[in-house]
Amino acid sequence: MTSEQSIEEIQLLIQQQINLPSPPTIAVQILNTVQSKEFSLNDLEKIISTDPALSGKMLKIANSAFYSLPSRVSSITRAMSILGTNVIKNIALSFVISKDLGTSATSYFDFDSFWRRSVTTAVAAELVKNLTARQDADIFVTALLQDLGILIMSLSKGREYNELLSKCKSSDPKSLITLEQQAYKFDHQQVTHTLINSWKLPSSITEPIRYHHEPEKAPRKYRQAAEILSVADLLSTIYYGTETSENVLLLQKRMGQLLAMNKQQTNELLDDVAKKSIDILDIFDLDPSQIKPYSQMLQEANDELGRLNLSYEQLVLALKESKMKSEKFANDLRSANKQLEKLAFRDGLTNLYNHRYFQEIFDKEIKRSQRYKNDLSLIIFDIDYFKTINDTYGHPVGDQVLATLAKKIASVIRPSDTIARYGGEEFAVILPNTKEPGLRVFSERIRRCVMGITITINHKKIKVTISSGGVHLPCDHGIITKQDLIDTADRALYMSKKNGRNKVTILPLPGKTEKPISGGVA
Ligand code: GH3
Ligand code: MG
Ligand code: MG
Repeated sequence: MTSEQSIEEIQLLIQQQINLPSPPTIAVQILNTVQSKEFSLNDLEKIISTDPALSGKMLKIANSAFYSLPSRVSSITRAMSILGTNVIKNIALSFVISKDLGTSATSYFDFDSFWRRSVTTAVAAELVKNLTARQDADIFVTALLQDLGILIMSLSKGREYNELLSKCKSSDPKSLITLEQQAYKFDHQQVTHTLINSWKLPSSITEPIRYHHEPEKAPRKYRQAAEILSVADLLSTIYYGTETSENVLLLQKRMGQLLAMNKQQTNELLDDVAKKSIDILDIFDLDPSQIKPYSQMLQEANDELGRLNLSYEQLVLALKESKMKSEKFANDLRSANKQLEKLAFRDGLTNLYNHRYFQEIFDKEIKRSQRYKNDLSLIIFDIDYFKTINDTYGHPVGDQVLATLAKKIASVIRPSDTIARYGGEEFAVILPNTKEPGLRVFSERIRRCVMGITITINHKKIKVTISSGGVHLPCDHGIITKQDLIDTADRALYMSKKNGRNKVTILPLPGKTEKPISGGVA
C-alpha cells in the first residue's frame, strides 16, 4: 500500500463494502471555516457557540488540568488565543465526531467502551507528544479518531466483524490487522484513513492514522506522529486490555527506545494518562470510573495480597486456636467420662467397684464361663466386729480403716479378678478361671493379708480380721443363677462368722454333696 495506485484500489474496495458515514455538519463547518482564506477566530467561535453544550465542553477542557493554563478562561476566543486555533478546532472536532458516532442501534458493539478507549488514547498521545519537542496541535484528535475504522467496520459488517473482533483476544493490534486483511483485504487503519480523507481532514491527521499500527512503514514526515499514536494505543491497551503486566514491560521498553525514558518515568507517564483521562472522559460524558492509575492498581493488588496473607495467617491462628480448643474439649470430655464412670461404677470411699458394677460384671462372668466352659469362683468377705472399731475410734476412723484395707487387698489381687465393695464392710471378689483349690488358696491369702495389716491412726494401732465365704462354679455346671452363687457365698460367710470369725468357708453349690471346707484361725 505504498504506491498511490494501491491506495486508490484499497479505497475503492472499502467504498464498495463499507458504508462510510458523512461528517457531522458542524465538523464540516469547522473544517471549512478553518481552511478558508478569510478565516477569523470569531467565525470559529460563532460555529462552536451554535451548540451551547459544545462550547461548554470546550471551555471545560481548556480549563482542565490537561492544558494547565495559568488562569481560567471563560470564552472560546480567549481559549483560542491561549491554546491556538488548531487546538480549539481539534477539540471541537473531537467532541462533534465522538458525539455524532457515539450511538447506534446495534446491540453487539459497545460504543461507550470504544469511545472511552479512544479518549484515553487521545489523552495518552497528547501526553507523549508533550514529552517530545514536537509541536503538534493535531495529535489529540488524530489519536481519538485512529480506530474509527473499527467502529465503521462494525457498523457495516455487523456480527461478522464482531466475531472477528472477539476472536482477536490478543492485545497485539497487529493481530487484528492480520485478521482484517485475511477477511476483507483491507484493515481498520485503511478504513479510518479512507473515511477521514473523504471528510477532508488535513494530511497531518490522515497520514499518521494510516500507519498507526505500523509506524515503521510511515513516510519520514509522519513517522514520529505514527509512533506516538502506536505508543498511545499501547498505553490505552494497558488500561482497557488484558495482559497488563506484559504490556507495561513492552511500554517500558518502547519508551526507553523512543525517548530514553527509564522505568520510573514511564510509570509516571502511565499514571498521568489515567489521571488526565478521568477528567477528560467526564467532559466527554463517558464514565471514568473504570480507569485508575497503574500505581494505584498495583497498590490495590498489593494491599489485596497483604489482606489475603493476613487472613491466611488469621486463618492458621484460628485453626490452631480451634484445634487447641477441641483438644482441650476432648481432654475435658475424657476426664468427665472418667469422672462419670467413677461415679457410676466406683465406690467413693474405697475406690473399688461398687455394688452395681459388681452385679453387672458378675452376670457377664457367669455367662462367659458358661459359654467357654470355664470355672468361676466368688468370695464374699466381711470385716469382723467392725461395729466395735466405729464405736471405739469413731466413724471417720472406721472409714480410714475401710479405705486402707481396700487399697491393700486390691494390690494383691490379679488383674483378671474383680474386687468390689459389696456393702458397708463387706466385699466381693470375682475370680474367673479359678477352680476350688485356687479359690481356697486365694481366700486364705486375703484373710492372712488382712490379718497382717496394722493400721496406725492417731498413734493408735488398729488390727482387723475378715471372715469369708466362697463358692466355686465348676466348668461343667448346669443351669445356675447369679443369686444361687451369691446366696451360697453368703451362707459360707455366715458359717465363717458362726465358726469364730477370721475364717474361710467354701460351700458347694446347692444340689452338690461336698462338705463345706473351712480354714483359718479362730
Ligand atoms: P460381725 O463380725 O458380725 O460382722 O460384726 P460387725 O460389727 O462387723 O457387724 P455389724 O453388721 O454388726 O456392723 C457393721 C458395721 O459396719 C455397722 C456399720 O456402722 C459399719 N459400717 C458399715 N459401713 C460403714 C462405712 O462406710 N464406714 C464406717 N465407718 N462404718 C461402716
Ligand atoms: Mg462385720
Ligand atoms: Mg456386716
